[in-house]
Amino acid sequence: MATTGKVIKCKAAVAWEPKKPMTIEDIEVAPPQAHEVRLKVVATGVCHSDYYILYEGGKEHGFPCVLGHEGAGIVESTGPGVTRFKPGDKVIPLFVSQCGECQLCLSDKTNQCVKNWTVDEKNMESKSRFTCKGKVIIQFMGTSTFSEYTVVREVALTKISDSAPLDKVCLLGCGISTGYGAAINTAKVQPGSTCAVFGLGAVGLAAVMGCQAAGASRIIAVDINKDKSSKAKEFGATDFVNPKDYKKPIQEVLMEMTDGGVDFSLECAGNVDVMRCALESTRRAWGVSVIVGWVDVKDVSTKPVDLICGRTWKGSYFGGWKSVQSVPKLVSDYMDKKIKVDEFITHTLPLEKVNEAFDLMITGKSIRTVLKM
Ligand code: NAD
Ligand code: ZN
Ligand code: ZN
Repeated sequence: MATTGKVIKCKAAVAWEPKKPMTIEDIEVAPPQAHEVRLKVVATGVCHSDYYILYEGGKEHGFPCVLGHEGAGIVESTGPGVTRFKPGDKVIPLFVSQCGECQLCLSDKTNQCVKNWTVDEKNMESKSRFTCKGKVIIQFMGTSTFSEYTVVREVALTKISDSAPLDKVCLLGCGISTGYGAAINTAKVQPGSTCAVFGLGAVGLAAVMGCQAAGASRIIAVDINKDKSSKAKEFGATDFVNPKDYKKPIQEVLMEMTDGGVDFSLECAGNVDVMRCALESTRRAWGVSVIVGWVDVKDVSTKPVDLICGRTWKGSYFGGWKSVQSVPKLVSDYMDKKIKVDEFITHTLPLEKVNEAFDLMITGKSIRTVLKM
């Protein structure tokens, strides 16, 4: 390609500092170094975690940065030593790497990898291939898909079917895979069981879809936004509960509805109080509650006795999927109509409107906005 080995100038949404809207800038994207791949981002979803980092989270992820971790694109060029990718390949960048060789990758107990971008947060500047106005711009989670071009490490990239529509399957780079996998892989929802899903954004709706795929007989969808009710039912929820309609704590409402608690609950709202409600909504003797919502600046609590009696409290990162090997299969499942993706997309906007996409999400008007480059 004409651009191989050269710096590419392109548009990106730069988050200069926390709690301020991003601005569209011309950035420079350096060529990929050893074991890195440069790709043209074709489309990217906007996830609550991007919003969280900018407006709610800690500063450890680094600023200025380019956010975005739910993208899909086409390989532009590869750095020395890259053998699994070639220009023109359709790919999805991964915020959880899978090197395939480390102690964690070799274990079937986890989808974590020691080469994860976030393991080495002190080196964020030296790992970035982005500059703007003479400053290094941090690549959030090593993906930075709110940019027309990005550079990722080959251990954090996966090749997908040539016929996959990138403006749809980008959502499998985070939200849908996360919620669906949290139900199937982490909670390990069983046929005939009763489930509750708290928070019905893309992650929660995907968790509902996962509970249904696992054969749950009752799926109670919980959200403080009443407008989420019909969407939840479309994804397989049997009941919708709005905590605002009750005076008593929502865990008591769910206990009564299910005669002692649900078998499985999933927290997909990103709120530590909801995490506690989700745990305490499960059956005391064997309930399993999974934390999916992302919070890194607050603590979560419950009474120890609520665990002592037999409940299990777990967390799920990227739905427990080993990323490189699983994402292409999830793409195939979508193309074979085994999982929904199109139904999550409520808005499509150009990159320039990324701040508007945040507003749509926070005001509960969108499920997912896809930004097209
Ligand atoms: P979203 O903003 O689209 O959806 C969140 C939903 O939660 C909204 O419908 C909102 O009305 C609802 N909600 C808010 N407060 C609530 C409450 N008190 N009770 C019930 N519902 C409530 O977000 P999303 O993109 O679907 O992401 C959901 C969460 O998952 C976020 O915290 C995000 O950071 C996290 N996340 C985690 C991972 C992971 O790997 N663990 C991956 C992706 C996203
Ligand atoms: Zn995400
Ligand atoms: Zn690894």
